[in-house]
Amino acid sequence: MPASSLKINALERRITFHADMDSFFASVEVRERPELKGLPVVVGSDPKGGPGRGVVSTCSYEARKYGIHSAMPISQAYRLCPDAVFLPVNMKLYAGVSAKVMEILRGFADRFQQVSVDEAYLVPGPEIRNFEEAALYALRIKDEVQEQEGITCSIGVGPNKLIAKIASGFQKPDGLIVVRPEDARKFLFPLPVSKIPGIGEKTADKLKSMGLSRVEELANCDVQLLSEKFGKMALRMKQLANGLDFGEVREKESVKSISRHGTFAEDTSDPVKITESLSMLAESVHSSLLKNRFLFKTVILTVRFEDFSTYTRSKTIPIWTSDFFVIKRTAIQLLSEFLGRQKFRLVGIGVTKLRKRGEKQSLITDF
Ligand SMILES: [Mg+2]
Repeated sequence: MPASSLKINALERRITFHADMDSFFASVEVRERPELKGLPVVVGSDPKGGPGRGVVSTCSYEARKYGIHSAMPISQAYRLCPDAVFLPVNMKLYAGVSAKVMEILRGFADRFQQVSVDEAYLVPGPEIRNFEEAALYALRIKDEVQEQEGITCSIGVGPNKLIAKIASGFQKPDGLIVVRPEDARKFLFPLPVSKIPGIGEKTADKLKSMGLSRVEELANCDVQLLSEKFGKMALRMKQLANGLDFGEVREKESVKSISRHGTFAEDTSDPVKITESLSMLAESVHSSLLKNRFLFKTVILTVRFEDFSTYTRSKTIPIWTSDFFVIKRTAIQLLSEFLGRQKFRLVGIGVTKLRKRGEKQSLITDF
């Protein structure tokens, strides 16, 4: 086999998808209330029917036509379009739909990485051999999400996470953009530098003051000059501008857990004593979570009886949290089936499926 085709095969094995639900919260609301279809819908905290004090979380594409966008004050959105439908954030509903969507996406993936409530990277298995097959595969994914969950998503396909991510946002809603490795630079170069994940407003302003507004200018600029302003990040920025991203698609969930156990001075069956111990252990777990800046999804209860028989029970909740009361309440729920049996020798609480706080939104890199 000639060297060039080997190289292409290696690239194509890295075919990466980024799937992003379109105006996710608003789309879920419209799905629940079909009478809202086609109307400007604004989902936000404290909307009070429009004049509230909150901010826009998501809005439908119909609302975007009026200039409404996320992070805008609700009151401003109301001035732009008083006739829009203003709805409060129903996180529980969205988390449920998100879990189902992620399950569908995961089914198409060999490697999978959820990056937020409505976005994920996936790398398909070896049956997808090239970018033509990848395009058809992306259509199947879109159809499946639409059919099962009644919402649309946009998918970007590229040789790495960077390109896939930018491509998915390129033609929203209901978009599909495939960028082949050989077209990556051509695709990126005309874009403003702020399209590169990790380049926020501040960095973009700094770059602009250096005369670098478009990706092409950043890609071709002198790395020495760049490192005077951005230090170690300069090389990474230049690589990204050239369409190079070596980040792997991988699960961010860590296998780590935090747990605390306590053995009773004397074996006991007193529910008050047992609950009190659980509460103390929950406090200790909670403070360790905060210290390490972790969020969790699963609570584990361990019970050891006087005869040393040991049981564990766990419960996974639909959202990431570090809430003390969630730990305590879940542990006490799990405890109920063990009360009134033998005397307890030990109880323990653990939390697992941990994630660093803030990691959800960090995309490819942070400058
Ligand atoms: Mg989205």
